[in-house]
Amino acid sequence: MSFKALAAALKKQWIAERTRCQSCGMPVIYDKKYRAGSDYCSYCHDGNSFVKDMRLADMRARVKGLLENRKAPALVRFYMHWRLATLRRWRKSAGLR
Ligand SMILES: [Zn+2]
Repeated sequence: MSFKALAAALKKQWIAERTRCQSCGMPVIYDKKYRAGSDYCSYCHDGNSFVKDMRLADMRARVKGLLENRKAPALVRFYMHWRLATLRRWRKSAGLR
């Protein structure tokens, strides 16, 4: 991999990391119906309210299932398990500020 390709890959990852849906953690660049300026993807929030009433444990179970279906590496599943707690929708219930 050239330096240029590596830099491009890192930049893409950085943008994805900064633009995660603050509910499910999906980078909103993958959401075709994403509303510009929203903190959430279209699967989680319809512009007025959350699509589904969930708790952090419910979202963790859902994301775990999705990642398993996609055969994501264990490290990614582990990362997302903890990353979810840092998202705006869950921070408070997870005891984070
Ligand atoms: Zn979402």
